Amino acid sequence: MSIRLYQPEKRRLGLMGGTFDPVHYGHLVAAEEARYQFDMEKVIFIPASKPPHKTRRDISTPEQRLEMTKNAISSNLHFTISDLEIKREGLSYTIDTVRAMKEIYVGWEIYFITGADAILDILTWKNIEGLLKECCFVAATRPGFHLESIGFKLGNLSKEALAKIKTIEVPALAISSTDIRQRVREGRPIKYLLPEVVEKFIYRNNLYHS
Ligand code: NAP
Repeated sequence: MSIRLYQPEKRRLGLMGGTFDPVHYGHLVAAEEARYQFDMEKVIFIPASKPPHKTRRDISTPEQRLEMTKNAISSNLHFTISDLEIKREGLSYTIDTVRAMKEIYVGWEIYFITGADAILDILTWKNIEGLLKECCFVAATRPGFHLESIGFKLGNLSKEALAKIKTIEVPALAISSTDIRQRVREGRPIKYLLPEVVEKFIYRNNLYHS
């Protein structure tokens, strides 16, 4: 029997934010690794409705992305999903999501998990200093990503805000949604890059062909 010597003072909740078009093993490994490293009690996947900064027009519907993500996480007891951003009209601002979750999970420490590439742009996000007072960030990096670029690009943030951004390396993030969509378009295999249930959903619904 293993005994956990370290107990965080507050209960910790992970919010896994992303477009998930489609969700893949890189996302699942990143969420599980973040959960383990930061001792989170659970991780809620939150597919973005209309992510700010997104210009792609061929994005799958929120309902399709929600369904794929729901199926992908079903075997992990620590994972759950929320349609909060999808139900909310308009752009998906992270600060609104974090504040809404804090009203439900009163007193919990919140960790917003997402890709390091996405985090490099956070200086342009809505009320970023305010957001970093409300929660910590976990930036999941792909192999070859230079961690120093986070400090370099985000140097304008206060020291306290910068200290709230943690990083984790996730080799499985060599898998990317962009690559999967391109593979489907070109008729190349996507097997073993994502759960079989998601692969079947993509073919059944004829996603990413055009
Ligand atoms: P994105 O631009 O689609 O993705 C940027 C990079 O990060 C891609 O390489 C992507 O890889 C990776 N990535 C995205 N989510 C990830 C995750 N959960 N785990 C690991 N890698 C991930 O980013 P996005 O999906 O639009 O935005 C990410 C999150 O930031 C969303 O929750 C979004 O709402 C939030 N956001 C908020 C604001 C704001 O509040 N103003 C602005 C921008 C984004 P894959 O393509 O393989 O996922």
